[in-house]
Amino acid sequence: MEIKKGIAVSPGISIGKCLVIDAEDYRIPRRSIKASQRMMEVQRARNAFLAAIEELMALESQQDQVEQSKIKDIFAVHLRFLRDRSLRKRVTDMIHTESVTAEFAVSAALREIALHFTRVKDAYISERAADIYDIERRLLRQLLGSKREDIEHLTEEVVVVARQISPTQTAGFNRDFVKGIASDAGGRTGHAAIVARSLGIPAVVGLEDFTEAVNGGDTVIIDGNRGIVIAKPDEATIAEYENYSNEFLQMEQRLDAIREKPAVTRDGVHIVMLGNIEFPDEAELVLEKGGEGIGLYRTEFLYLGSEQEPTEQDHYEAYAETIKVFKERPVIIRTMDLGADKYTQDKRFVREPNPFLGLRSIRFCLRNLTLFKTQLRAILRASVLGSVKVMFPLISNVQELMQAKLILRDVMEDLDDVSIAYNRDIDVGIMIETPSAALTAATLARDVNFFSIGTNDLTQYTLAVDRGNEMVSTLYSPVDPAVLRLIRTVIQDAHKEQIDLSVCGEVASEPEYVMLMLGMGVRKLSLAPPMIPEIKQIIRSVTMEDCNAVARRALGMNSERQIATYLRNAAREVLPEAF
Ligand code: PEP
Ligand code: MG
Repeated sequence: MEIKKGIAVSPGISIGKCLVIDAEDYRIPRRSIKASQRMMEVQRARNAFLAAIEELMALESQQDQVEQSKIKDIFAVHLRFLRDRSLRKRVTDMIHTESVTAEFAVSAALREIALHFTRVKDAYISERAADIYDIERRLLRQLLGSKREDIEHLTEEVVVVARQISPTQTAGFNRDFVKGIASDAGGRTGHAAIVARSLGIPAVVGLEDFTEAVNGGDTVIIDGNRGIVIAKPDEATIAEYENYSNEFLQMEQRLDAIREKPAVTRDGVHIVMLGNIEFPDEAELVLEKGGEGIGLYRTEFLYLGSEQEPTEQDHYEAYAETIKVFKERPVIIRTMDLGADKYTQDKRFVREPNPFLGLRSIRFCLRNLTLFKTQLRAILRASVLGSVKVMFPLISNVQELMQAKLILRDVMEDLDDVSIAYNRDIDVGIMIETPSAALTAATLARDVNFFSIGTNDLTQYTLAVDRGNEMVSTLYSPVDPAVLRLIRTVIQDAHKEQIDLSVCGEVASEPEYVMLMLGMGVRKLSLAPPMIPEIKQIIRSVTMEDCNAVARRALGMNSERQIATYLRNAAREVLPEAF
C-alpha cells in the first residue's frame, strides 16, 4: 500500500482499477511485467519499429517531390537506426532479462545511445543525440498511440493515472467509464482540474511521482476531498473508504434537496448562481443542481474535443443545445480561449517560449479573423434563441476590446447583408483576468455591459505563478492580498459605472471564499455545476452582515496564510460537514 498527498481539485471518492497513460516527451516509469507478458511486449516493440519505419518511408517519399535533399539525409539516418538489428536486439533482450514494458526498454536503450553521443567531443556527432531522441519519440508515439485509443474506447470503469493530463485529453474522456483522475503534474486551477470538477470526477493532481508507484490494473483510491491517493490499498483501507464514500454521497444528496430553494442570505439578499460549462450537455446538470443560467461557456472545448476544426454550424448547434435548456435565462458564451495550455491539432499554433504570455485567447482570435468571425457569426445567429451574451477573454487593454467589438460589428453587417436575424442589442462583456485589465477597469467598464472576474488567470498573472505547475502551487492563492486588492478595485469600478459583475474563476466554487466574495460586493457567482448546492447552502446560512465583517477582517490582513486560515475557520463554522 502506498499513500501520497497531492492537491485536491475535484471532490468525491473513487476506488477502482487504474489505467496509466504516459505522456509524450516524458520519462517512462519503470514498470515490471509478469513473465507471461514478455512475449507480448516484445511483439509490441517489434510492431512499433515496423510502424515507425513505414511512417518514415511515407514521409520520405513525400519529400522526394520537392527534392529536399537535407531532409532526405535525416530520414535516411533515422531509417538506418530503426532497421539496425543490434538496436532491436538490445530492446528485446531488456524486456526478457529485466521484465520491463516495451516503452521502458525502447526509452532506456535509446537514451543510453543518446548519452554516448552527447559525450563525444566532436560537435557533429554530439548533435546527433537530438536525432536519437527524435527516434525515441517516434517509437513511443507508436507504442502509446494504442494506449491513447484505450482511453477513448473503454469498456469498464477505471481511474486514470498520468504524468500530466492535458485539457484535450480530459475533453476526450468517456465520462461513463473514467471515475477518477490522479496526475503527477498540475495545479488547482489547471484546465484538466477544472474539467474534472465540472464533470464531477474525483481528482487529485500535483502528486509528483505517483505514476512510478502504480502499474496498470492496480487498485487505486482517489480521495478528491483530502487530496490523497492510495495505491494497492489493503482490505481494511478499502472498507474504510467505502464507508467514507457512502457518507459523502449522503451529504451530497442532502444538499441536492435544496435545489428548489432560492440562493438568498438569511437577511434576504439574492445571489445569482450560474454554472460554468465546457460541453453543451452540461447545461442540464447546471439546471439539475439549481443553477439559474450559464455564466461561462468555455467554447474552446469545441476545438479540443475533436480532430477537426468546428464549422459555423457546429458552433451554432452547440450553442442552441445550451440555450434550449435555459430559454430566457442568461447564457454567456465566451469566445474561444485557445493557446497557453489549450492547443488544438491545428498547425497554426507554433510552440512559444512562454505560451501563457503569448498568442493566446483574444490575441489569437484577433490574429485569426476567419476563425473568430466564424464563431461570432454562430453566436449572433444563436442570439435570437434566448438570452445570449458574448464575452471576450483575456482582454488586457482598451485597444483589444475596441478591436474585438469592431469585428463583432463587422459580422453583424455581414449578417445584415444576407438578412439573417440576430439580437442587435446583444450584451457584450469581458473577463477581467490580467492585472492591466483590473487596474484600468474604470475605463473598460464604459465600453461593456458586464465584467466577469476570472480569478484563475488573474491570480496567475498577478503573482507570476503558473496556475498549472505543481512546483509552485503553494505560491498560488486567489486570496493573496495583492489579488484581493485588484478584485476589490474591479468590483468598485463596476459598481461605479453601474455595469453587471460576476465572478467565474474557481474562487466561486470554493466554500471557504463565498463569504469573502459576498462581503466584497459580489452578487453573482458562476461555478462548477456539482458545487452549486454546497455554495448555495453556505449562502442560505449567512447574513450580509456576517459576510461584510469577514471581508473587512480579511482585507485588513497582510499575509496570504493568515487570510486563508481565517477564511477556512469562518466557513467551517457555517458548514462544518464541507471541511
Ligand atoms: C479564469 O481565468 O478565472 C477563468 C474563469 O477562465 P479559464 O479558467 O477558462 O482560464
Ligand atoms: Mg482564464
